[in-house]
Amino acid sequence: MKKIEDPWDIPPEKYEEPSVKVFCGDCDERFDEDKVEFTGICEDDQGRDRMSFICPRCGKDQTSFRYG
Ligand SMILES: [Zn+2]
Repeated sequence: MKKIEDPWDIPPEKYEEPSVKVFCGDCDERFDEDKVEFTGICEDDQGRDRMSFICPRCGKDQTSFRYG
């Protein structure tokens, strides 16, 4: 008997939303928000989120807006 293909048997990453990124000015590179370690959040004078995080590449404290 032929196995019926399960429509839900798709790797989970196919369902993931496009990840939010943060930018490290020292490395000039963007990183997935879920791959960095956040140390804080604050808002600028226009109410935009500014995240503090440890950059996984240079290991330094960085701040960045969030890029959707
Ligand atoms: Zn960096």
